[in-house]
Formats: sequence, structure tokens, C-alpha cells
Amino acid sequence: MSIQIFGMPVSRGVAIGRAVLVASSRVDVAHYFVAADRIDAEIDRLRQARDSVALELESLKRELPSEAPHELSALLDVHLMLLHDESLTGATKVWVRERHYNAEWALSAQLEVLARQFDEMDDLYLRERKADVEQVVERLLRELAGSSGSALSGTAAERRAVQPARNGAGEDPLVLVANDVAPADMMQFKRSVFTGFVTDVGGRTSHTAIVARSMDIPAVVGAREASRIIRQDDWVVIDGDAGVVVINPSAIVLEEYRFRQRQSDLERARLNRLRHTPAVTLDGQAVELLANIELPGDAQGVLDAGAVGVGLFRSEFLFMNRAGDLPDEEEQFEAYRDAVVALMGLPVTIRTVDIGADKPLERMSAQDLRHEHGLNPALGLRAIRWSLAEPGMFRQQLRAILRASAFGKVRILIPMVAQLGEIKLILEALARARQQLDDAGRPFGKVEIGAMIEVPAAAMLIDRFLRHFDFVSIGTNDLIQYTLAIDRADEAVSHLYDPWHPAVLQLLHQTIACANAMNKGVSVCGEMAGDPAFTELLLAMGLRSFSMHPARVPAIKQRVLRSDTRPLGQQLPAVLAADRPAEAWKLALGARGSA
Ligand code: PEP
Ligand code: MG
Repeated sequence: MSIQIFGMPVSRGVAIGRAVLVASSRVDVAHYFVAADRIDAEIDRLRQARDSVALELESLKRELPSEAPHELSALLDVHLMLLHDESLTGATKVWVRERHYNAEWALSAQLEVLARQFDEMDDLYLRERKADVEQVVERLLRELAGSSGSALSGTAAERRAVQPARNGAGEDPLVLVANDVAPADMMQFKRSVFTGFVTDVGGRTSHTAIVARSMDIPAVVGAREASRIIRQDDWVVIDGDAGVVVINPSAIVLEEYRFRQRQSDLERARLNRLRHTPAVTLDGQAVELLANIELPGDAQGVLDAGAVGVGLFRSEFLFMNRAGDLPDEEEQFEAYRDAVVALMGLPVTIRTVDIGADKPLERMSAQDLRHEHGLNPALGLRAIRWSLAEPGMFRQQLRAILRASAFGKVRILIPMVAQLGEIKLILEALARARQQLDDAGRPFGKVEIGAMIEVPAAAMLIDRFLRHFDFVSIGTNDLIQYTLAIDRADEAVSHLYDPWHPAVLQLLHQTIACANAMNKGVSVCGEMAGDPAFTELLLAMGLRSFSMHPARVPAIKQRVLRSDTRPLGQQLPAVLAADRPAEAWKLALGARGSA
């Protein structure tokens, strides 16, 4: 029977595919695809883990003191039996062989299947055996984590998600379903086969949602019960425009969504024809459309989308999924240089690490962090605060970025600056990094330094901040979070996350106007920049530089090409003064006949 559930639309389009349930990130297992020629080795890992656990259980049983209750030995027998049961290890191998899942992922997928079967049993005794299966799987996962070539001990390259030649379930497309996905895990899925994804939790601008948007696949988050209701291999439709998830749709519903899919493919193809058209408004204002990237490998997508540079390289993703082994100067330099070279002279704005909040180094989601620490990490040691607390590491990153500037146009961007006192420390660190490179005889180019304006304190003192920086980039995701005191990763308050809030618009306008008056560069790199609902408003505020996911560039360009900034600017004061600016702006656009 077809079921509909509702969540928040975070990435547009329609995806139709078979569900792949990924266990909650609280179970710390890596999820990645194994290349075809590594399948046998992966199954060997499983076999070895099973044999080791069997030995361990047998020896535990042997060593049981004679006075131990009989139940204990019986329990170990049950575990041994489960370990050799086809429904566990046999079926797990099928996930590896047919779906190319890594061993840990295959085990947790099979656990999910078995757990549901146990939940549905009428017999209480049998239902309670679920805990035994969980314990056996846990032992196996622990064994795998300790084994060579495991997800936790492998190199970043080995762990990278590999796209299998075929996905095994015929050629059916796959969609990812999870309670929550940590940003670090999302990165592993970035080059994978998933055509859509849905999670139970998460906010519109959580980093998980941002990575999904950067993958340009339809996504719905905050669909509360999704991972409980959807089963492995169910057919699922993800409507990333409306925030609807349809499970096992009827033939008629499926056909309707397939029609919409074809329509949006056509629309995409039409917009892509604007790729080489310069972004100039009707009244001749040139607008810079830049792209946000997470990894150097994203650079080609920037050029393909027709963006004229990178406005935000979120460098922290280079630091994730490494089990604490942070990239050294050389590795960082190579990554930045690769992006700079790929951009062929176009500017690359590299943001220093923004670790913390909903982007911890470990594979943890914001939800896990809240549960484990009971703190709001968004207000903690995050971004530049983290870098200034680790000055050696900060200078190492600055040196790596400076060295990359010998290969093209590079700009440094500092996240989350809030204190005037931080500026001095940042500039000193930069001067010292330059000096160290000079002393070592290493070349570097001229690099501009900018600050992200994403804390209200910085927006309010924008003129003072601008005295020290060459440019600013407004991070609206955080600016909204901090202005309205709403955790951007928490779906419980997502209805209050309002880019149209008059206070947010006032801070945005003030920042853009001040930067323009002081003749300093100003850009917006938060999600508002890639949302066509705000393009004309931002143009009216005087913004001429937008940075967004590459996939959003064509739609925003179309909006720019159809805009005339003169009448827009005249409407602005009334909209800024309105209690409900969204409505006022819609009315203003309607009055001009361009809504
Ligand atoms: C922002 O806060 O708007 C931003 C672009 O940075 P991030 O989303 O990575 O926090
Ligand atoms: Mg931010």
C-alpha cells in the first residue's frame, strides 16, 4: 500500500528509487561502495571477522566457571548459532556482492532487516532474540574495526565512496534513507550512486542538507518517521520540491512523478544553455556568480555550471573522515593547488576550517552531539575560534593556502569572526605564515583576506571590520541562526528559521551597503544566494556577487538576466520597514508585473 510522509524540501527535483536504509550514525560504521575487484577481499574480511568472533565465543564458553548458570552457556550457544546462520552472515555477503556495500554497511543493513522481522514476531521469547542478533553484529563490527583494511584504519583514498559498475538490484536507482547522516558520512556518499535522500531529522540549512544540495539530488529532511516506516528495497519517491516522500507508490502516482522528472530534466537542459551567457541585469549591471565547493574534485562542476570562480571552498571537509589524522601542510597544499589549477585563473576563495557545530571531525551528527554532550556546539569552539586555539595548525593551513596562490588567484576567507580582538590575531598569523614561507624560500602570490559575516556582532560593526579586511562574504545560514537564536540543524525549530525576518534583512542590507560605500568586495555565500526567491531582493540591496552550489548557478543567472535593479532599489526601503517583508516584496514585484 502506498504511504505518504512529509518533511522539509531541501534539494529540488524528484527522485524515484529503491530504499537503502543506512543505520543511524550513532552506530559508528562507515558506508562506502567497494570497487568490483575488491568484492572478494571484502567478503574475506567478513569471513575472517566471523571466524574470529566464533573463536572468541567458543573460548568464552570453555572458560565459563563450572558454577556459572546454565543460561550463560546456552546464550553463548545462541550467539554462535546466529553467527553461522545464513540469515545473518549469508545475507550480509549478498549485500556486499550485489550492492557493493562495504562489510560494515552490509552488516548494519542486514541487522535492520532482521530487527524488523523480530519486531513483528508474536512470540515474546523470539521477539527478544533481537537483542542477541544486535550483540552478535556489534561483536562483528568491533572485530572489523580492528581488522586491517577496515573503514576506520584505511586511508582517505581507500575509504572514498566508489561507484560500482552496476548496483546489483538490476539497474534500479537507489535512494538513501536514514535517521540522520553526519556531514562526514554525506561526503562519502557524494560520488555514490544515490539519486535522492531522506532523513528523519535535520534542518533546511544543516550541513547534511547543504552537502545534499551540492550533490544536486532531490532531498527531504525532517521526515520524522521515514527510517522507521520505509524498509530496505521499498520503492520510494522523494519529492524535493514539496517535501513529500511516497513509499511504494501506485502505478498512477509513479507515472505522475516520472512525468515531473522528465519536465524538470527539460527545464534543467533549457537553463544549462545559459552557461556561457554573462550574468548582466536588464539595466546593464554585471553580476558575479560564484560557486561553493567542498572538495577539489568539485572544481570541474564549477566550470561546467558557468560560474566565474569559487566564492567558498569549505576546506573543513578535507579534515573529516580521517580518524583524527589531520591533513598536513603538504596534503592541504596539494588539494588547494588542484582546485586553483582546475579553475584556470578564475578566483578561488578558500575558507579556513570551520570545524565544530554540526561539522565535527568525527562521524557524528548534530543530533549525536547534542545527545552526547548536552551542549549547543554552534555556540562553542567552532571555526576561527578553533583555529585560534590551535595556532600551529592555523598557520599550517595559511601556509598551504598561500603556497597554492603561486598557481592562480586565491583569496582567504575566515569563518565566524565576531570579536575585534580576533582580527589582530588572524592578521598576525597570516604575517607569520608569509614570513615562514619567505624564510623557507617557498613562492606564494598576492592573496586577499576576507571575513565571513555570519555573527550579528560582526554585521553590526561592519565598518570597523572592513577596515582590516579586503572583502567580506555574508554567511546567511549562520547569520540567520545566530540572529534568531535558532539551531539550523534542529528540525524542531526549523519553522522559525526565517530569512525574511526584518532583523535579518536589516543586517544584510547594512553589510552590503557599508561594503559598497567603502569600496570593498561583498558577496553572499549562504543558501540565500542560490535561492531565486531572494535574487532580486539582494540585487536591490546592492549585491553584485553571489556564491552558491554549482547546480544553482543557471537558475540564478536566469533571474539576474530578467532583473532591472532601478525599480527594485526604489521598492527596497518600504520592504525593509515592513513587518512582513516577504509579503511586501511579493506585492512590490507584482506591482511591477515581474513576480
Ligand atoms: C553560512 O553560514 O552561510 C555559510 C556559508 O557557511 P556554512 O554553511 O558552511 O556554515
Ligand atoms: Mg557558516
